[in-house]
Amino acid sequence: MPPIPADEAVRMGKLPNGLTYYVRHNDYPEHRVNFYIAQRVGSIQEEESQRGLAHFLEHMAFNGTEHYPGNGVIDYTRTLGVEFGKNLNAYTSTDQTVYNINDVPSTRQTAIDSCLLILKDWSNGLLLEGDEIDKERGVIHEEWRLRSSASQRMFERNLQTIYPNSKYGVRMPIGLMSVVDNFKYNEIRDYYHKWYRPDNQAIIVVGDVDVDYMENKIKEMFGPIPTPGPDAAQVVDEAVPDNDEIIVVSDKDKEQQYTTIMLMFKDDPLPRDERGTLAYMLQDYVMDMVSSMLNQRLAEKAQEPDCPFVQAGGGYGGFIMTDNKQAFQITALPKEGQAEAALQALMTEALRVSKYGFTATEYARAKDEYISQLQKRYDNRSKISNERYGRSYVANYLEGTPIPSMEVEYQIMNQIAPNLPVDMINEGISEMFPQDNNHNVVVLCMNQEKEGNTYPTVESLTGAITAARNSNIEAYVDNVKNEPLMTTLPKAGKIKKQTHDAKFDCDILELSNGVKVVLKKTDFKDNEIRMYAYSKGGNSLYGPNDWANTGLFDFIVEQSGLGNFTNQELEKAMAGKQASASLSLDTYSESLSGQSTIKDLETMFQLAYLKMTDIRKDEKSYANIMNLLETALKNKGLQPEAAFSDSVETTLNNHTWRYRPFEAEHLKMVNYDRIMQIAKERTANAADFTFYFVGSFDKDTLCKHICQYIASLPAKGKKENWVNVDEHPTGVVLNHFSRKMETPKANARMYWHTDAIPFTVENSVLAEAAGEVLDKIYLQKIREDAGAAYSAGASGDVDYEGDKVFTNIMAAVPMKPEKATEALNIMRQEVPAAAQSIDEATLKDIKAAMIKNYETMAKENGYWLSVLRWWDQRGIDLNSNYANIVNGITPQKVSDFIKKVLASGNKIEVVMMPEE
Ligand SMILES: [Zn+2]
Repeated sequence: MPPIPADEAVRMGKLPNGLTYYVRHNDYPEHRVNFYIAQRVGSIQEEESQRGLAHFLEHMAFNGTEHYPGNGVIDYTRTLGVEFGKNLNAYTSTDQTVYNINDVPSTRQTAIDSCLLILKDWSNGLLLEGDEIDKERGVIHEEWRLRSSASQRMFERNLQTIYPNSKYGVRMPIGLMSVVDNFKYNEIRDYYHKWYRPDNQAIIVVGDVDVDYMENKIKEMFGPIPTPGPDAAQVVDEAVPDNDEIIVVSDKDKEQQYTTIMLMFKDDPLPRDERGTLAYMLQDYVMDMVSSMLNQRLAEKAQEPDCPFVQAGGGYGGFIMTDNKQAFQITALPKEGQAEAALQALMTEALRVSKYGFTATEYARAKDEYISQLQKRYDNRSKISNERYGRSYVANYLEGTPIPSMEVEYQIMNQIAPNLPVDMINEGISEMFPQDNNHNVVVLCMNQEKEGNTYPTVESLTGAITAARNSNIEAYVDNVKNEPLMTTLPKAGKIKKQTHDAKFDCDILELSNGVKVVLKKTDFKDNEIRMYAYSKGGNSLYGPNDWANTGLFDFIVEQSGLGNFTNQELEKAMAGKQASASLSLDTYSESLSGQSTIKDLETMFQLAYLKMTDIRKDEKSYANIMNLLETALKNKGLQPEAAFSDSVETTLNNHTWRYRPFEAEHLKMVNYDRIMQIAKERTANAADFTFYFVGSFDKDTLCKHICQYIASLPAKGKKENWVNVDEHPTGVVLNHFSRKMETPKANARMYWHTDAIPFTVENSVLAEAAGEVLDKIYLQKIREDAGAAYSAGASGDVDYEGDKVFTNIMAAVPMKPEKATEALNIMRQEVPAAAQSIDEATLKDIKAAMIKNYETMAKENGYWLSVLRWWDQRGIDLNSNYANIVNGITPQKVSDFIKKVLASGNKIEVVMMPEE
């Protein structure tokens, strides 16, 4: 197979000491740069006494480096508007550790040089000081606690069965808490010096930079790092052995909400030296096709009344924790007590594919969809993000996957996709799903533990596989509806009046049926058109009897049919078309949102027209949704996190019926006919809607479709308004409770709120800034200083709720139970403290980040949809003066704003503690 040429726009090289680098100039977004350092080592390189230290080390990169001692990395990047956790981040897996600094403004040369210096420090200048290590132990222990869930516990318990005779069975990256709490400093320093070496590292820089300059700077900065000696430890791929006999795991946990079943077929990855060739792209394409065709079959199957699962789907990728073994995995949510039957059904579908392959019509659809997505990516090729380029170079270094230019990828795939026959796909897949043996088959079943439950056993699950093999399997029949979405078109209307709005450079149309349309042409993407339509009303117009109907409205409408098509027929008919339109019901409005490419614009209009006029009941799909919800909701309360967020929601909304948590028992209140009726009522008067279109449209074409599909919409009845329905408790409300848990966790949420602050852009900026200030304080005091939490955050918001305005400052901290008193006190005390004074430097950094985010957002179509809507509906201009307002806020203004919020005396505290 011929090699795939690397994109010529990326400058690659290797320094004499072994360090690899990639540099690429990119203008999307403008004036921004992303930096990455990728190491091809992770938890798999740990010794037994180091379990968890690869990940621990990743944390230490933010706790003291040669040029950035203490929290210097976080503090310095913050001055660039780079936010820790969002733009500045890292991850550790079994085989790789990757750090990134994203969205660095490129307008300051010193900023670019300094970020490169951080990468250099990460590569070989971590200080790893004893006291900093000790401070971080608590943070990581809390990260473990936060991530400890039913499925995580079951994975951990069974990892050695899933990976027999492999180090992967004992190298979960989070590691052992006994190691994290107690390891000797030298253990982590040893790991660092042994594995973080230039020959295991790549530096990647993508963005608005001068490539020659960057390359020289990399040579100058990283060149002097010593070359590893001949006896330096080598990174060797840890094997995941094949299994001749089936591997079956069945486990249970008290907090598992529902049973899940996974059926996996292990496979060897392409050898590394073939991954840069056409073989890789071919395999990638084939697996993409197989997944999409199989998933379509599984979705169709789930709608059969006697199907033992309510949902199933799968795909090809790394085997659970590593890419050193691949697998085709299919996961299902069985109906209650039907785990074995569900597994048998999954195996039957795999065997059906193996024996008979896919049909020509299935493949034609999957291929059309692929080509149409490829075309869209190609058309938007001048707007590929730094992050997408950056991650592809990371993958090229770590996994050897190809990095062709979009032009080359487009050419190659436009050769492969139309010419590869379905037989070739079928041939490949029959090997992956063996028909007469269980070679490399792995089954994983996770159950909900409850007294009186019976659980699938290794024998019963193995029996299900055998039963599938012994059953009589017939070929799949593809039922397709070969007719257009709309057979007759409505009588077109007209544009009655057209004006231009200079402020937002948009056109405002008045249609013959009374609908108002706002158009803004942009070049943010070369091939993207977005639509949004909005009308006042929403579920505020419905009472308690319709609570369940309005609650599930979006989901059920989306899964219904349209025009002459059932939901599944529609799915199939939409293959190869990049167009969508969804109807949605919020508290105060109903809306229609959609998007499309230039080519499929008319399809989006047709979908929109049908959503407004002809939603069709689909009883099969509805029954499947009800089953799915029943399964998902039945044991929701078993998860401490779910119980906690339900408590927060009900307390915040004063226990009104509108915001009570949705439970399985509420499903019997749902009435499909009534939902269809509500959809009719919400869409009866198109003249009550305003439509907004933003994107790369041709105006004449767009207007033609507007006349055909929007001006023709029925527009009867009166204009509606909403009813103000939101209410929040006043005064101080405490909801402290405890519950039994498998892993003891504490969690707290606090709100300080008021309805006495008007909505203005400045107030909205002040609220956001106040939230950000507190966020930084909590991170420092609760996480870094007290080691009482892994994540500690705050936010502020001012927003309309109907005609009223709700302002709040919110704090959220999942914490270590033993340190709850300390953490809760910090949460409580820092808000009034910030009302007294705020650190000037902190606010300066926050303002820089806000301006930077704004600059990026202002070049996105979605942002403009919302700006136009706010202007149109509320007369509020979120855009024009934003940067000036941000620049004008001062510590005093933010403090005064917090004071105004506190003046109401309204405070809510929800605290969950583990039961002793
Ligand atoms: Zn971590």
